[in-house]
Amino acid sequence: MSTPTRYVYEFAEGSRDMAVLLGGKGAGLAEMTRLGLPVPPGFTVTAEACRTYLATGREPPELGMQVARALANLERAMGRDLGRADDPLLVSVRSGARFSMPGMMETILDIGLNDDSVAGLAKASGQERFAWDSYRRLLQMFGHTVMGVDTGLFEQVMGAHKAALSATDDHALDAEELGRVVEEFKAVIRSETGDDFPQDPLEQLYRAVRAVFGSWNSERARVYRRREHIPDDLGTAVNIQAMVFGNLGPDSGTGVAFTRDPATGERGMYGDYLPDAQGEDVVSGVRNAVPLAELENLDPRAYGQLGDHLRTLEAHYRDLCDVEFTVERGRLWILQTRVGKRTAEAAFRIAHELGEAGTITPDEALARVDGTELTRLMFPRFATRTSDVPLAHGVPASPGAAVGVVVFDSDAAVRRAAEGQQTVLVRRETTPEDLPGMIAAEAVLTSRGGKTSHAAVVARGMGKVCVCGADALVIDSAARQFTTPAGAVVREGDTLSVDGTAGTVYLGTVPLTASEVSGTLETGMATGPLTQAVLSLLDHADSVRRLEVRANADTPEDAVRARRLGAQGLGLCRTEHMFLGDRRALVEAMILARDDTAREAALAALLPLQREDFTGILAAMDGLPVTIRLLDPPLHEFLPDRTDLAVRIASTAHPEPHDRELLTAVERMHEQNPMLGLRGVRLGLAVPGLVAMQVRAVAEAVARRLRDGGRPRAEIMIPLVGTVEELRLVRAEAERVLVEVATETRTTLDCPIGTMIELPRAALTAGRIAEVADFFSFGTNDLTQTTWGLSRDDAEASFFPLYLEKGVFAASPFETLDQEGVGRLVELAVEAGRAVNSRLQLGVCGEHGGDPESIHFFHRAGLDYVSCSPFRIPAARLEAGRAAL
Ligand code: PEP
Ligand code: MG
Repeated sequence: MSTPTRYVYEFAEGSRDMAVLLGGKGAGLAEMTRLGLPVPPGFTVTAEACRTYLATGREPPELGMQVARALANLERAMGRDLGRADDPLLVSVRSGARFSMPGMMETILDIGLNDDSVAGLAKASGQERFAWDSYRRLLQMFGHTVMGVDTGLFEQVMGAHKAALSATDDHALDAEELGRVVEEFKAVIRSETGDDFPQDPLEQLYRAVRAVFGSWNSERARVYRRREHIPDDLGTAVNIQAMVFGNLGPDSGTGVAFTRDPATGERGMYGDYLPDAQGEDVVSGVRNAVPLAELENLDPRAYGQLGDHLRTLEAHYRDLCDVEFTVERGRLWILQTRVGKRTAEAAFRIAHELGEAGTITPDEALARVDGTELTRLMFPRFATRTSDVPLAHGVPASPGAAVGVVVFDSDAAVRRAAEGQQTVLVRRETTPEDLPGMIAAEAVLTSRGGKTSHAAVVARGMGKVCVCGADALVIDSAARQFTTPAGAVVREGDTLSVDGTAGTVYLGTVPLTASEVSGTLETGMATGPLTQAVLSLLDHADSVRRLEVRANADTPEDAVRARRLGAQGLGLCRTEHMFLGDRRALVEAMILARDDTAREAALAALLPLQREDFTGILAAMDGLPVTIRLLDPPLHEFLPDRTDLAVRIASTAHPEPHDRELLTAVERMHEQNPMLGLRGVRLGLAVPGLVAMQVRAVAEAVARRLRDGGRPRAEIMIPLVGTVEELRLVRAEAERVLVEVATETRTTLDCPIGTMIELPRAALTAGRIAEVADFFSFGTNDLTQTTWGLSRDDAEASFFPLYLEKGVFAASPFETLDQEGVGRLVELAVEAGRAVNSRLQLGVCGEHGGDPESIHFFHRAGLDYVSCSPFRIPAARLEAGRAAL
């Protein structure tokens, strides 16, 4: 007989390596138990049991026995039985998935209380009020979470009792009053569900476990997973743990502590503490906590022990850790730990400083940061002037700067975002129900809660700007306004500027200034601990990466900036911008030319302008490769819009003959599918003299740079090639011009000629094409468009949101490379190309060249470089380094 599957592990039996089975929280509790930290005992029901429950609607048959056995051990360890009338053991039942999903699933505390054991708890604790308060909390949590009763109904009951006593605080209700509240809560449950609150402690326990299983599929948990790319089929583990109480009086309390500041990364323990309170009060931000440092005055012993435990944990996990803890009558308990979430700023500082201290290796430090975070740090901040007076101050909970119009609920944020408006979501405090609004808004502002409140934790995770605990604001969501102590009234639709770094809020739009990190990346000079960390980690990335990083840039100014940011050349210079602006007239002349002479004249006029452009760019990138792509877009893009032109002609009594001529040309060139029409290499073959003019401009620019003592390294790239024949023809033309210019200028011109691979046919026949190409550059924008048959200009606006929501796409294939399809074509072309020419140079210049996930793919596929927009270069360097680890 095979051994039955184990669905239950006591904390002492698990370890941090078992997070897949025990979830993050369960694995952390197990690890702390092994380390000898003061963890209230308990056990974990595995995520596997949850998956069975979700798939079949019932828990695995072995689960009951296994829970009973673990519970018996727990009761023995505690010397008390669950719900025993004279001195009850109470337990908490908490979710704990593999990946942290703060506040997204359910927790039920005080399981084991009933009409009998409430008196036992009162006697054992010596506190009658506390016992009745715990019982009413259980009824409320159980009633809502397990039995589906609207929490508002419980709040109404509490409100009525407080109103009767003219009180605003729950503490005004004494034991007797709470006893009446309990009776009314039970009546609410009965009338809402037709069932009584279960008095049997075991029934309470099992039903709570099932409710936590079920909360995996709650709407808010699903929304969160989609946002964080957490798979839907993992399920959650459930932790059952002996209750300890932080609400037993002034020598008790509860808090959250970090081994370092999770917002800035600064060293030293950090957190919030709430005296005489139950665990959930801190996280929900319902009451404002005091800084953790206060605990040193309140209870120096507990504070000292907490410091020791935090040091143990950080040394053990070799990373920033956070803990939830409770002090029960002077005794410290640790209820949870995990490697803590942090801002991008903190991620860089902590990784660097742990590396410097030798706690982790340079490679590990690099693995702990990513390109998305680095890009976030390059965003601008507010340029506040001394005359800007903040409207409010709060806790700087998630850094950055954002401007938007005020909204007071999640729906309004979602609605306005869909209309393209930027919003600031203003709430007294947020709950997981506000998640869609937090995703839609640019910033979140609350009047209650500290750095560990729901708003703060969730906003940080998303990289949203957040100021919380701005307690001077009086928020009236129903009236859709808030007031400041100075008497200002801010209404829905007014504009706010929120500074999540400083914790300040301004009325109106405050201008933005460049970030410290951006400045440092351009100058290479550190200005503080953060910029020092960024430079050091980038240095390490540069030393380990194999992929080179080039830039997509079309002007000397952009090329200079790209080079400062670390570009090792230009991977794509799109020459079409050189056909715009005041040069349009020349382009029109070229298109409208009736004969060769007229066309040649127009091309001859464009030649010196192009030569100037190329000379400037080659100078900016002196010594580094510059890949110049010949003209790609369809010519009608350089002509006026057909409808505009027709209207202009129709509305004038004497239309310009030039306009008529233009209209004829526009109509002649009109295509239903211009992206699949006369563009790229097809244009080069169809318009006599175009390729020759562009190649001559490049060649003459190179010759001039050589004459001036430069080291120009131009490469000529032919776009949209589908067959080797196209490339052969254009290459012959280009080589002829190169020889001509070399002879004229008496220079040696060494100018590689290559092609873009941006059509499936090119990828599939890459072996043939490689016979005529010195390099391939994957144009993954067009390759994605043509492989999927998706218009890159239209698709994102129409059905993409639907596809993302339905999970057809995990991410837009135009942002993150579709490795299975488009990536397969890249791999085929790499293999076939290199088989023909082992020295074939391979790069990518589509948008994916700057996307972190795609960069890892290009590394694996064996490319030589990625090329991306200048501002993405630092992130690309970092990710190329991480890919090589
Ligand atoms: C591409 O198609 O990936 C590419 C870089 O070219 P463009 O975006 O100019 O079409
Ligand atoms: Mg393209």
